[in-house]
Amino acid sequence: MKYCSRCVMPDTKPGVHLDPEGICSACRSVEKKKNIDWQERADQLRKICDEIRGSNGNGYDCLVPVSGGKDSHYQVWMMKAVHKMNVLAVCIVPHLQTAEGIANLNNIVSSFNIDLIKVSLRPGVLKRIRAKAFFEMGEPNWADHCSVFAGVARVAQMYRVPMVLWGEDIAVEFGGKTSDKRVASAEDLIRNDLIKDKTVEYFFDDIVNASSTVFYKHPPKEELLSRNLRSVYLSYYHNWDGYKHYELSHKFGFQGRAKGPLSGNILDYDNIDEKLCEINIWFKFLKFGFWRPTDQCCYQIWNGRMTREEAVKLVNQKQYEFPGEYLKEFLEYHSIAEKEFWSVVEKFRNLDIWHKVGGQWRLKFPLE
Ligand SMILES: [Zn+2]
Repeated sequence: MKYCSRCVMPDTKPGVHLDPEGICSACRSVEKKKNIDWQERADQLRKICDEIRGSNGNGYDCLVPVSGGKDSHYQVWMMKAVHKMNVLAVCIVPHLQTAEGIANLNNIVSSFNIDLIKVSLRPGVLKRIRAKAFFEMGEPNWADHCSVFAGVARVAQMYRVPMVLWGEDIAVEFGGKTSDKRVASAEDLIRNDLIKDKTVEYFFDDIVNASSTVFYKHPPKEELLSRNLRSVYLSYYHNWDGYKHYELSHKFGFQGRAKGPLSGNILDYDNIDEKLCEINIWFKFLKFGFWRPTDQCCYQIWNGRMTREEAVKLVNQKQYEFPGEYLKEFLEYHSIAEKEFWSVVEKFRNLDIWHKVGGQWRLKFPLE
């Protein structure tokens, strides 16, 4: 396990590698982004919007998947206020929303004066898939990722919306992929059922079956293809900066976490909509030796708002905190006993990078 010499990302992150100079592929894509002609990209998006606007008769021009977060505010603002599109927002509603998450989702509707469809998945099925994904993959949110992509594609199909505008291309922004095929990869999101080598069929049992998982399965590919439905990432057309989105959304009434950042977090406005994802993210720490503090500090470094020295200090201060705030609700939701939870934790701890020091689990390769 080695760390990038420019940011603090370790090379254990899937898809990230360090080059001979010790610089990670995510930092290299940040460099490449600086050479992009963003005005030209913005013009490309304007052109697409001009083509689509009104082409659907009295129907919607554009579907924007939203969680209620700062980036959702930015996406809706861009489509509605800047490009004057008739926007349909869609939220695949998390089961354990925070008060801030509920308020922020309502705020998108009222601030931007748009229609919102909420898809609430039946609890029996979501809980069952999440629990199995937790025990077998250490990744309960697999279920949510699956339903977000497939659910959005379903709604786009049902309402015959000609365009889906996603936010950020995670593979490019964080994974270090520098491909210019970002536009094309967004096409996959509305046609591809495969999430991390699994489709929902893997989870089929006595209650999880074809008819109870409509929102976990994409509509037939041929049908979407024949519609010419466009699916694009806004991060391809605009220089994506989460902090700027926070500032913009704040002006429109978005609120950060009232009690400040969660354990292990540096920011109080990142992924604050719901209560079940934090443990999921913390499992990255067991598997790959990094989680929220590293992600959040890297982001600040890439955008010129933090030095590496400051990041090293903060990550070391924060990374061993456990996000216990919602543990009780996490256990209750999945009907898992706490003892059972900790045994799953040990199952996913990567002993290549972890060892015990003075009775406490510590990374073998400290960040310095
Ligand atoms: Zn780096």
